[in-house]
Amino acid sequence: MAKLLEGKPLAEKIKEGIKLEVAALKNKPVLASILVGDNPGALAYVKSQSKAAENLGIEYRLQNLPQDITEDALIEFVRKLNSDNSVNGIIIQMPLPPAIDYKKISQFISADKDIEGMHPANIGKILFGKAKLIPCTAASAMELITSTGIDLYGKEVVIVGHSEIVGKPLALLLLDKFATVTVAHIGTSKAGKLEEHVRRAEVLVVAVGKAGLIKGDWIKEGALVIDIGINRVNEKIVGDVEFEVAEKRASFITPVPGGVGPLTVTMLMRNLVAAAKSQQR
Ligand code: NDP
Repeated sequence: MAKLLEGKPLAEKIKEGIKLEVAALKNKPVLASILVGDNPGALAYVKSQSKAAENLGIEYRLQNLPQDITEDALIEFVRKLNSDNSVNGIIIQMPLPPAIDYKKISQFISADKDIEGMHPANIGKILFGKAKLIPCTAASAMELITSTGIDLYGKEVVIVGHSEIVGKPLALLLLDKFATVTVAHIGTSKAGKLEEHVRRAEVLVVAVGKAGLIKGDWIKEGALVIDIGINRVNEKIVGDVEFEVAEKRASFITPVPGGVGPLTVTMLMRNLVAAAKSQQR
């Protein structure tokens, strides 16, 4: 039976380190959070982020903008925050109104304030093994994997899902640890090869968003399983892996909810403090 890899206790440990770093800064770090309109999902993120920030001694500066703001006006607002020296990091809350393209707007956040780690310069630094601002979900998965004490050198790692926020950056982070990384995606599934890749994974990370995509009996005996997927099935939140069977075969497995999720906000705060540190030098 697998050990449960829960995010909360790990997040608490990491937060202790963040608090020490905050205390060592010259000025209280400031996170500017752009909220357009009042989407309930975005408001829920704001609530949990502001609580996390407050507990860590970080100022959470909420910037609530009207629902009908134009892309140009939003870009201008981001530019103003870029040049505001009191702001260390910027996040744009999702979802945005349909008329606004997140990918376009987010590219205007300056690389040194990009605490979501999505600026091309920050993604590029991952390639060179020099990243300071890492996409939060990929960073969370990495923290959970390393918390098990596993030596990744030469390990067969299979990542299912190749999104820009999870699969691709995580593949680079794992390569940096000399794991043998396979990235499976929709093409792998369509070619009928998903099962054979998953079956040989010593470490399996799944980030797709399809409940039951990974059958429990595909899991290699003793594998470490990180399930990032979030799916609502019959009013319950479940991951992408068939948990009940998988947990009998894996050595470690993340629960959904309660695995990766609780760590992501902590990773955001860690990025904020890293940004503040390099700006206050
Ligand atoms: P995306 O939709 O951006 O990416 C999903 C990936 O899965 C794509 O690479 C897609 O390929 C691939 N895919 C789709 N269908 C299949 C299939 N049948 N077989 C193999 N691969 C497939 O999603 P995200 O990366 O943003 O998120 C993935 C999941 O993780 C979601 O459930 C999301 O809710 C969850 N999530 C959880 C977080 C947390 O904090 N716990 C944070 C972020 C995400 P293609 O694009 O080519 O179709």
